[in-house]
Amino acid sequence: MRQIYIIFGAPGSGKGTQAELLADHLKLPSVSTGDLLRHEEKAETVLGKKVAKLLDSGKLVSDEIIHGLVKERLLKPDTKRGFILDGYPRDPEQMKDLFKQLQKTDNVQTAVIEISDKAVMGRLSGRRVCDCGETYHVVLNPPKRAGFCNKDGKRLYIRHDDRPEVVKARLKTYRKNITPMLRLAAKKGRVVLINGELPMAEVRKSIWNQLLK
Ligand code: ADP
Ligand code: AMP
Repeated sequence: MRQIYIIFGAPGSGKGTQAELLADHLKLPSVSTGDLLRHEEKAETVLGKKVAKLLDSGKLVSDEIIHGLVKERLLKPDTKRGFILDGYPRDPEQMKDLFKQLQKTDNVQTAVIEISDKAVMGRLSGRRVCDCGETYHVVLNPPKRAGFCNKDGKRLYIRHDDRPEVVKARLKTYRKNITPMLRLAAKKGRVVLINGELPMAEVRKSIWNQLLK
């Protein structure tokens, strides 16, 4: 039986942060479609070049492209015991597509990290990221050496799509899609609501307490 955890939340709600913590704890892979796409963009693959503009503008990449990426990723052997989904599914169509790929015995649980638009703006204006996948915040979660990654020492940078006008567009898309997606998620398994405005360790505790019991 595979354990599948879907982490929903607005951009900047802490999905990536919490997905990584849960992944380390459960020794399951965290699958982030945003990371997969940024990896393609950085490697300048045909797909990467195709999606670059969409990523910068905060618009969703087509369901068809996402379907291919996810299908390939979920075929890898490290997903055999289960996986954690971060940033996917993003709309009801992707959700239906995910469900088609599931096995009868899969156990699906969903956590929704709730956060206000105002808090999102504060989070993303201070987010700094490393290519290795680590994420920091200049005030709320600073690296040990300002501007450099704790893990591999590389220079941190600001994501193009963390500009305020782009964040507003991303938020709008999220708020539009989350209600129909939650309706579908509730049909598959447990859905828990998490207060995402608490400190990181508190959010972690709340997710682990509710999903792992
Ligand atoms: P998402 O994957 O949902 O876009 P991230 O995990 O990248 O969000 O978090 C967005 C920003 O907020 C990052 O800078 C991260 O360090 C910071 N962050 C994450 N969780 C919390 C929290 N509970 N409290 C304060 N800052 C947080
Ligand atoms: P994220 O890292 O989840 O914030 O995603 C960054 C960007 O990648 C989004 O603004 C979209 O352009 C694209 N993206 C990531 N995941 C998806 C998805 N499941 N469906 C469509 N586009 C996505």
